[in-house]
Amino acid sequence: MSKTDWIQQEIETLQAQGLYNRIRTIESPQGAWLVVDGRRVLNFCSNNYLGLANHPDIVNAAKKSAEALGIGPAAVRSIAGTMTLHVELEKRLAQFKGVEAAITFQSGFTANLAAIPALVGKEDVIFSDKLNHASIIDGCRLSGAKIIAYEHNDVKSLEEQIKANLNQYRRALIVTDGVFSMDGDIAPLPDISEIAKKYDILLMVDDAHGEGVLGKGGRGIVDHFGLHGQVDVEVGTMSKAFGVVGGIVAGKSVIIEWLRQRGRPFLFSSAVTVPDAAACLAAIDLLEDSTQLVDKLWSNAKYFKAEMKRLGFNTGVSETPITPIMLGEAKLAQEFSRELFDEGVFAMAIGYPTVAQGRARIRVMISAAHLQDDLNKGLEAFGKVGRKLGVIQ
Ligand SMILES: *Cc1c(COP(=O)(O)O)cnc(C)c1O
Repeated sequence: MSKTDWIQQEIETLQAQGLYNRIRTIESPQGAWLVVDGRRVLNFCSNNYLGLANHPDIVNAAKKSAEALGIGPAAVRSIAGTMTLHVELEKRLAQFKGVEAAITFQSGFTANLAAIPALVGKEDVIFSDKLNHASIIDGCRLSGAKIIAYEHNDVKSLEEQIKANLNQYRRALIVTDGVFSMDGDIAPLPDISEIAKKYDILLMVDDAHGEGVLGKGGRGIVDHFGLHGQVDVEVGTMSKAFGVVGGIVAGKSVIIEWLRQRGRPFLFSSAVTVPDAAACLAAIDLLEDSTQLVDKLWSNAKYFKAEMKRLGFNTGVSETPITPIMLGEAKLAQEFSRELFDEGVFAMAIGYPTVAQGRARIRVMISAAHLQDDLNKGLEAFGKVGRKLGVIQ
């Protein structure tokens, strides 16, 4: 017996259960089509909602900035790694989101790890949606606060938990995903914000899949619901619709100032590089210039979802361009994904632990980069594989 045998056994168990994730390698730029494992395939996997990941304006901005300012920030932000571009990006993000201030992080994941432990600690309580993203869950755990999970998108359950628990703690935080990444449903933020107001609790929303997608010109979930000034903390990412990388926390200036003092991933980990920051600024320029890409994203999503339903697929409860095709068993989802790949369509199977056991699915990510013809090719492949595997008639 070697001391790593147990790991090998765990891996074999995952393989036997159809839960082993074989990671494919992309050999081309991101876009509607990709070269994957040597094959040109239709891309239904990326979070590249607006097609910005390989947009010429963004590539140019990154190039120019690298020529002028180099690449690495060379230190953590609080020592000598804050460059003019980082500061400019934060100003522009705050304007774009319509908030007092913003701070950026290496990723959406670290934004959650920074924000939550800075706002609540051991004597406090967090009310967290049961289906919140892993980075929210990890941020909650790191904080040391008591975590109380309420039923998914269930405002009654949230209020019951608050009534039963709030008075035993010093302070409290309500935290929810804005758009839930596996089902594509949207948090009932107006009702949640009413409750936060009623009980005087800090409210935080993670808008990773709403940034660049929801609201006017992609300004996010708070804009979508017209809740400006009523959500204390908005977390976001620039790795999805913005097509780059980096995390955001946006909100009241006092909270942002506090994160510059107490956000551990800000204090102890270097920032995104110069080309990343310049590329994010170019993404904001594009979003502020025109709503065309966001409009195209939504018209593509509506078309694809309606056609999938017409074919007889169950697309769950999605209200956004995230389109889950519910299949149930992980093995069926994996087989479906393999068959699609043979048909030239790259769409990932998602199973436990990313979603609950028995709720495996293919998740299709629609993008503004898809042409009508691309969507039709995808629909044809889904129809063919669905009939072959007995999912539809
Ligand atoms: C994708 C995602 C993140 C992580 O964002 P990264 O920038 O890729 O680290 C965080 N929260 C939610 C809800 C997400 O969907």
